[in-house]
Amino acid sequence: MTYPQVAAFDLDYTVWPCFCDTHLSPPFKPLASKNGEVRTLIDSCGYEVSFYKDVPRILADLKSHDVKIVSASRTWAPEIARDLLKGFKVEYEGQIVPLITLFDSLQWGEKSKVIHIRDGIKDIFGKKADIRDYTACLFDDETRNRDVEKYGVKYVYVRDPETGTTWELYQKYLNSI
Ligand SMILES: [Mg+2]
Repeated sequence: MTYPQVAAFDLDYTVWPCFCDTHLSPPFKPLASKNGEVRTLIDSCGYEVSFYKDVPRILADLKSHDVKIVSASRTWAPEIARDLLKGFKVEYEGQIVPLITLFDSLQWGEKSKVIHIRDGIKDIFGKKADIRDYTACLFDDETRNRDVEKYGVKYVYVRDPETGTTWELYQKYLNSI
C-alpha cells in the first residue's frame, strides 16, 4: 500500500456532521465514555455533536505510516472548530489524547484549499517547501475544492454527509495511488 506524504482534511461534513460555525453554540460539555474517550460534545443548547466514527482510526493509520496531517477549514469560527478538536478525546497508541494532537498543522480562513495545503506543507516542512514536491490528498465534501488537483493533490470526495469520511473511502483512496 502506498501512502501520501501529506493528508489534508476539511472539517465540516468531512470530520463532523455539521457546520460548526452556524449549528453550534459553545461552550461544550463532554460526554465521556467508559474508557475516557470523548466522542460526543454537547453544546450550550443541548445539541450533541460527534465526529464521524472512522476518523480517529484513519488519522492513527496515517500517523503510523508517517503521513503528516493538515486540517483545511474555511470556517469563519475557527475557535469553535478548535474547541471541538480539543474537546474530542480519542484513544491513540494506548493513550487518551485530544483529537487536535493528531494534526500536524491547522489551517483556517477564507482561502482556497490549495492555499491551506500549501501553507500547511510550509508549516510542517519549512518555508521553502513546495506543494508540488509532496504527494498529498484532500478529503473534502465540496466538489469545488477539486481544484487542488491542478497542484497534484489528489481530491477525495466525501460524498455522504451521513457517514462522512469512512474507512472504506479511505481504503479506496489508498488503493488508487
Ligand atoms: Mg466541508
